[in-house]
Amino acid sequence: MIFGRRLSITVPFHSGETVLSFLSRLATANFAPSAQQFCVHMGICRAKLIQDDEEEVAKLLALAGLSQLPEGHVRVTRDDQFRYFNGETVPKYNFHRYRFRYCPHCVADDRRNNPGPLAARAFGRSIWQLLYIKNCPDHDVALVDAPSSVLDGTYEIVQMIEAATKEPFFPYATPATFTGFERYIRDRVSRQQRSPIWLDRFPSTWRPPTAFSSAQPFNMARCISVTASLNRRWRAQKRASTSLSAVKCHSSSC
Ligand SMILES: [Zn+2]
Repeated sequence: MIFGRRLSITVPFHSGETVLSFLSRLATANFAPSAQQFCVHMGICRAKLIQDDEEEVAKLLALAGLSQLPEGHVRVTRDDQFRYFNGETVPKYNFHRYRFRYCPHCVADDRRNNPGPLAARAFGRSIWQLLYIKNCPDHDVALVDAPSSVLDGTYEIVQMIEAATKEPFFPYATPATFTGFERYIRDRVSRQQRSPIWLDRFPSTWRPPTAFSSAQPFNMARCISVTASLNRRWRAQKRASTSLSAVKCHSSSC
């Protein structure tokens, strides 16, 4: 379906950006006081955008003169229990949505390098919404959880970035390594090229062995949750001891 109107002021849709981030930046660039009001004026249903409705997303893209989503885009759909990142199942409690989460260095780079009005340059990444991802893959720092505010749950990404990055919080980020597990999750949801590992082979209805004891049919979401838990335990053990034998000893006692 082709939609006609193209705004004279547009912003680029970045790879890895969420639809709601793009909406918020496009609204800001066109002097709209909020993404919500922008949608009302443009005849776009924001609730449908939140649901990743294809026709509504196409209307939004057309406003920026775009005919398709950018390469590397992560489609996020949902139901009552799960979110689906490019079809990969994620329990909704592992989906960070209401409060903004970000990398201060990414925001600074966006503001420094991207085109357009300053307020509309920084954008929200899909992977920042995944609680499995704790660190930035580009800057090796820990992601920052913005303080609770009235903007929580509003999807007003530009305002959320603006509020979250005000001094004195903005310049500080804790050095942290983007782990192999995080890379695996990032690559899996963004469908990037990578080497297959054992986790890839789990079918969605596989019933787990005793190590994953559960009476429920197994799915990838549970597998990822369990693996994330093991990954956290391993890192905690690694911090607690520099000795591999000590780690093994502790593990065997669990
Ligand atoms: Zn970063």
